Amino acid sequence: MLAADARAGAVVVRSLPTDQVLGVGRPSLGGRAPVAAPGPAAGALRTECGNTVYPPSYDGARQWGGYPNGLIPPSAMCPLGAAGHSLRCDAAAAYRAMSAAYAGAFGGPLCLTDSYRTYAGQVRLYGEKPALAAVPGTSNHGWGLAVDLCGGVETFGTPQYAWMVANAGRFGFLHPSWADPGNGREEPWHWEYAGS
Ligand SMILES: [Zn+2]
Repeated sequence: MLAADARAGAVVVRSLPTDQVLGVGRPSLGGRAPVAAPGPAAGALRTECGNTVYPPSYDGARQWGGYPNGLIPPSAMCPLGAAGHSLRCDAAAAYRAMSAAYAGAFGGPLCLTDSYRTYAGQVRLYGEKPALAAVPGTSNHGWGLAVDLCGGVETFGTPQYAWMVANAGRFGFLHPSWADPGNGREEPWHWEYAGS
């Protein structure tokens, strides 16, 4: 049987619990014209069964502007409103809007520990934390398209993390599935801009 399972947070296929079945019917809504399901608004990412659907631009290399990863000139990026932090300009504008919305909920902007990361910075981090850091030259931080957040977002299950899960998609940011709980490299703080 198909079941909307609240514990799994998904629609799942389960075996029929025959000892609990009181009756079986066939639901019908009668004849009417099909109605399309409402889609996401305001540039939000589509979700299916509770999971964010990544746009095609998210797959594969995220290279832009002809620059190598981690070697993007500062003049090609835009500030995030926090000291020294920058991203690609469309991602930066989306981040600033997201941070303003976050401030409306929590009274202060998003807490930011890392954004664009130079190639040299990636080499240094990989040397310090090879199990955690991306191979130098492959990090989405090196494309100016990822941020690491603090202030509560760095822990699964906090109100701040829940706010990001509920709202980041509206601004084109997502939490990549590899960083989700149980996927081997849990990084609640790592969020990526998925706009094209
Ligand atoms: Zn990160």
